[in-house]
Amino acid sequence: MAIKQKTFREGSTMNKRRARITIQTERLLVISRSSNRVEAWCDCCRAKRSMVAIDEAVVITGLTQRALFRLADAAEIHFTETEVGRTLFCIGSLNQLRTPNDINNR
Ligand SMILES: [Zn+2]
Repeated sequence: MAIKQKTFREGSTMNKRRARITIQTERLLVISRSSNRVEAWCDCCRAKRSMVAIDEAVVITGLTQRALFRLADAAEIHFTETEVGRTLFCIGSLNQLRTPNDINNR
């Protein structure tokens, strides 16, 4: 029995249908600045103040964590420690800082 070989030359482009699907996505990123704030007593201000964790203090001031801890040690910014040892910084004192570059280059 002879084997017939068939070659498909024609119609090959017809079979290759290419579909381009474009998916457009949108992402809304909401950064809530109030999420990490807690109201706590600030001994330096002698008042209840908004306190923020180190991460948010970095965002607010533009300083590095190291710079912030240095300032806290130098009593230039107010901070308190929680029962679990977390350091919280007084927003009032953070807002009174001079421009970040002044302090980072000290
Ligand atoms: Zn304070």
